[in-house]
Parts: sequence; C-alpha cells; structure tokens
Amino acid sequence: MAVNRVYSGQECVHESFLERPVTRRNFLGGLLRGAGVLALSGSIGQVLDACIGEKPDYTLADVKAGIVSPKAYVKEVSSSIPEIQSMKKSGVLKDVLYDPFEQDLRQLLTGLFSTNNVDAGLLEAQMDVYREAASSDRGIATVAPGMRQLFGKNVPVYMIFRPGFVDELETDEEFRLTALHELVHAEDIYNGVRVGKFHIRGIQPGIADEFVRNLAELRATHRVSALVYQGYKATGKLPVTARYFLGELRNYSKHWEFLKNNTATTVEKEIAEAQLAEFSDMVPTALKGEGNPVRIDFRFGGEDSFVIKDR
Ligand SMILES: [Zn+2]
Repeated sequence: MAVNRVYSGQECVHESFLERPVTRRNFLGGLLRGAGVLALSGSIGQVLDACIGEKPDYTLADVKAGIVSPKAYVKEVSSSIPEIQSMKKSGVLKDVLYDPFEQDLRQLLTGLFSTNNVDAGLLEAQMDVYREAASSDRGIATVAPGMRQLFGKNVPVYMIFRPGFVDELETDEEFRLTALHELVHAEDIYNGVRVGKFHIRGIQPGIADEFVRNLAELRATHRVSALVYQGYKATGKLPVTARYFLGELRNYSKHWEFLKNNTATTVEKEIAEAQLAEFSDMVPTALKGEGNPVRIDFRFGGEDSFVIKDR
C-alpha cells in the first residue's frame, strides 16, 4: 500500500493541511455580540433554551479574545450539538459543566448517587478520580462519575470542560469533536462497554482498570479520528487542525498497541482481539525509523495511509 502523506510532529507536509483554520466571524462582530451578551447575562437560561439545535452565536475565537467567557461558550455551544441533546434526552448525559467548584460537583454527584442508588461511600473516591483528571495539564474535558464500579449501571454522567480547552483547541469543530469523544465515554460508562460477545459492567475478574482505560480511549479516539478522516475525504480539507488530528491518531495508536501487546489475562486478550477486529477500518502499524513513525491505514471504503512521527 502506498504511503502518501508524511507528518512530522506538529508540522505536516501535505499542503492542504498547512492552511490555518478560518474562524466564522471577525473580531468586531465578536465585540458587538459580546456587549449584547453581557447585558443579557441575567436571563441567559432562557436565551440558551431558545438556542437548542441552532447554530451558536459564540465562537472559540471570541473566548480566546476574552469577549465571551469559557463558561458561556461551553453552555451555548453544547446546547447546539444534537448528539449532546439526544444523550441528555435518553438519560445518558446529565449535563455539561464548565470547571465546577469542587463543593458544587460534590453536591451534584451526591444528588446523582442518591437518585440512582449508588453507594454514597464511593463519593470521595470519585472526587479523587475527578481531582486527578482535572489537575492533568492535558485534561481539557472529562466525564464524572467514571469509576469502574459504575460501568454499565445506567448512572447518568456529567461532561466537564476544563479551562485548558481554550488554549488547547483551535476551532469550534475541535470543541465539537472533543465533546463527541467524551460522549463515547459517557455511553460506555452508562451502558457498559459492549465488544463482540463481551459486556464490561462494574468490576469483573480478569479485567484490570488499566485495560478498560485503554479500551475506552481507543473507542473514543476511533470515533473522532474516523469523523475527521471522513470529513477530509468528503471535502478534500481537514475539518480540524493537523495538530488536533495527529493528537487523536497518536493516542489511538498508543491504545491500540496496549491492547495488542499488553493484555494480562485471557479475557482481556479476547476482548482486545474482538475490539481490534471491529476497528479494522483504522489500523496503526509501528514503523522502524527515527521519530518512532506510525502508519495508520484507513479502510473506509477505499484505502489510504497516513504516517505520523514524533518530532
Ligand atoms: Zn478520552
């Protein structure tokens, strides 16, 4: 199979990927809208309800420029993402939050645990899990609760964006895809992970937390990378920055390698084989050479290969 694109770190040599993303609105428009937004802040709840399913007024560029608060952006934009709305309707997703105070999150989870008959004794352990995810530099979004014990117990989860998303993400499409990535986690936690004949629910013998973490990340990065790739095939342009796409692909490849080579038990191995077979439309292969190159073969209808290198 021909390898037709080569990336090195943040740079890439495929020329259509070199273009900077263009924001939908200009700076002045953002300023004017920002002034209106401030005046409306008292009744923002009603304004947001009216916006569901519609194109949001705020852009990430407005947030970067300090015109719109990250919190207002997260609220408005997540209300306009149909997948988020349908997950809320179906009960999988409780709500989307921006950087909650610890005591506020504790209160929300206390309520959630009590209405869903979750052992209140798990609360502090869940807060530890959240704190750890939140303190990570790269933690731009997460879901809570996300403990193994709750997998497949039909407990709704909160999606939480962290302040780091403003700097980490470059476009509104990257924000949307990050939300879709988290929705994969939300579904897996709520329903349990179904792979082939397996159904991972709660703590099960022979299935380690680290294995489930890698499996869950593989599933989320698969969804996002497939959407980016399909967008690229449809339009001839990447719908996100190359940096974002490469980040997802590198993670996909890392979790793939874990499932392929680091399973510790027979049941983990069987689940991994079933999952890798299901994802045979996107296969990464480690190549020999400087910068640990990885080739990702996409097989969605046609065939295409991308090579990614560390800088
Ligand atoms: Zn993830």
